[in-house]
Amino acid sequence: SGARDVPFNRPESLTKVYAVASGKGGVGKSSVTANLAVSLADKGLRVGIVDADIYGFSIPGMLGLSGKPTRVDEMILPQVAHDVKVMSIGMFVPPSQAVVWRGPMLHRALQQFLTDVFWGDLDVLLLDLPPGTGDIAISVAQLLPESELLVVTTPQSAAAQVAERAGSIATQTKQTLAGVIENMSWMEMPDGTRMEVFGSGGGASVAENLAATLDQEVPLLAQIPLDTRLREGSDAGTPVVLGNPDSPAARAFDTLAESL
Ligand code: ADP
Repeated sequence: SGARDVPFNRPESLTKVYAVASGKGGVGKSSVTANLAVSLADKGLRVGIVDADIYGFSIPGMLGLSGKPTRVDEMILPQVAHDVKVMSIGMFVPPSQAVVWRGPMLHRALQQFLTDVFWGDLDVLLLDLPPGTGDIAISVAQLLPESELLVVTTPQSAAAQVAERAGSIATQTKQTLAGVIENMSWMEMPDGTRMEVFGSGGGASVAENLAATLDQEVPLLAQIPLDTRLREGSDAGTPVVLGNPDSPAARAFDTLAESL
């Protein structure tokens, strides 16, 4: 078909690729992707994000990007925000327009993002997947067989159950599950106590159950607190890890970035 090979799959590629997955929307998958990326870049790593959350793309806004990528000859130059290179399907559709794409088109768009974009040398590439276990997750596994999965959940048991389903896709795709990230774990109160708004234990149970299903070690990599400043930072396009580096959420991302 003349399709180019995916540079991240070449034997000489040193890029670590993580696909960030969740069972359902609203658990903070994109927030985790954006903040983790910026945190890694802040440590001096060369980082890229492919926003593959085709129906709910939010990465450009969270990083303060609104323009369109530029084209040079046959290649597309990614946009850069806070030292992170970004490609999003959101850069190709008008903001208020719904994206109605079928599986094969999504696959081709993702393939183009990986082959026709001038990423340069990257240390880490993060893919923000759509929630659930859809076509894109399968495409990622086909196009990037060496990519590892990160599963985001909240502590709530209902959320944890669907997150587990999203993580168990790794049995079919033969991907490694790098670990589980629990988001919205608690809110730090002024008196130093923790208010567990969404209960507790979801992240640990997802990690434990997926370890049994996949017969591999699955670490709970981080517990990110609920933090108003995280939401404000995302809305303003400056992730909390840069805007409020001393906040509990920023410190949790810092530890997460160190652990990868
Ligand atoms: P998803 O990608 O899973 O749909 P988002 O990352 O878009 O979820 O997050 C959903 C909403 O919750 C956003 O408004 C985001 O700013 C907010 N949010 C996510 N994580 C946190 C957190 N730890 N503290 C406060 N707000 C958060």
